[in-house]
Amino acid sequence: MIIKFKHDENKRLSKNFTSNEFQSHDGTGGFVDEDLLIKLQILRTQVGKPITVTSGYRSIEHNKIVGGEQDSQHCEGTAADIVIDGLKPLKVALLAGRIGFTGIGLYKTITHVDVREVDDPNDIDCWEG
Ligand SMILES: [Zn+2]
Repeated sequence: MIIKFKHDENKRLSKNFTSNEFQSHDGTGGFVDEDLLIKLQILRTQVGKPITVTSGYRSIEHNKIVGGEQDSQHCEGTAADIVIDGLKPLKVALLAGRIGFTGIGLYKTITHVDVREVDDPNDIDCWEG
């Protein structure tokens, strides 16, 4: 299910996340996939530390500006780039894999997690950026 929100609505989406954290950085509001939210909340509860979402939903226009892939999961509301204070991106990636994110990208300072559709639910699309 997709949860829609308006720009700066600051709607509470789960125990620890609000819509502002997922909105497109170009002021267009957006939407977030419920499955992404549930898994992020599980991760949040597990680590017991705030998760900073550096990029959640991206409008198509904003995705182009930041040089995202054309079929980016960010435009579907199914992806988030995250940082957890005190945890290296690799550690975050490993925890995310255990929780069941199906797309995981490891970058220098952030971890990309998404809930893309995969044929085999045990398969994880993973890459290093
Ligand atoms: Zn990403």
